[in-house]
Amino acid sequence: MIPFSNTWPYDIIAGDMYVQSCPLCSRDNVLLPMKPKELISVREGKKKLLIFPCCHNKVTVLDSDADYILTDRKLR
Ligand SMILES: [Zn+2]
Repeated sequence: MIPFSNTWPYDIIAGDMYVQSCPLCSRDNVLLPMKPKELISVREGKKKLLIFPCCHNKVTVLDSDADYILTDRKLR
């Protein structure tokens, strides 16, 4: 079962990935240094190191679905 505490919702707008707020510093509307095509490779099992540009916190993205990313870190 997926640990919901390690998930965070994302949005794709015009080919860019955003989060409505950063789970680690609460900044609004953060553009992620990750492309939608990388979500596909994550789903295929390739882990992605994601560094939030707002606070430089690092998480590893382990999986994703249409709305959420799953990371190695407790986000809520
Ligand atoms: Zn942040």
